[in-house]
Amino acid sequence: MTDCIFCKMASGEITPDTVYEDDQVLAFRDINPQAPTHVLVIPKQHVATLNDLDEGNAGLVGSMLLAAAKVAEQEGFAEQGYRTVMNCNAWGGQTVFHIHLHLLGGRPMEWPPG
Ligand code: 5GP
Ligand code: ZN
Repeated sequence: MTDCIFCKMASGEITPDTVYEDDQVLAFRDINPQAPTHVLVIPKQHVATLNDLDEGNAGLVGSMLLAAAKVAEQEGFAEQGYRTVMNCNAWGGQTVFHIHLHLLGGRPMEWPPG
């Protein structure tokens, strides 16, 4: 997707503040952090929303979660705990239509979310 900002990050056209990368996913700091650590984990492959995933993407989604856990360890709050979130479409609050897992840590989280 040439007009997708997260695809541009995945391809290296735009260089984010990367904290983790492997062959399937890229993790970088959110430009508008909502916690002391706010990282986005994206697949390198373009998938617009959670609704566009299929069974063939199960490994990809697993890799996103494993990457989030690795970054939590790297950032030093794995044991204290952290929040992971994926927003889907308008009511979920999705604003960038290339799926991403939010990793929020470094402070206690509240529940329920707004
Ligand atoms: P959503 O609302 O779709 O769940 O989350 C999109 C996230 O992407 C937001 O937290 C927003 O701050 C972040 N974001 C949007 N544009 C950029 C960008 O150009 N660079 C980075 N690092 N984060 C971005
Ligand atoms: Zn994309």
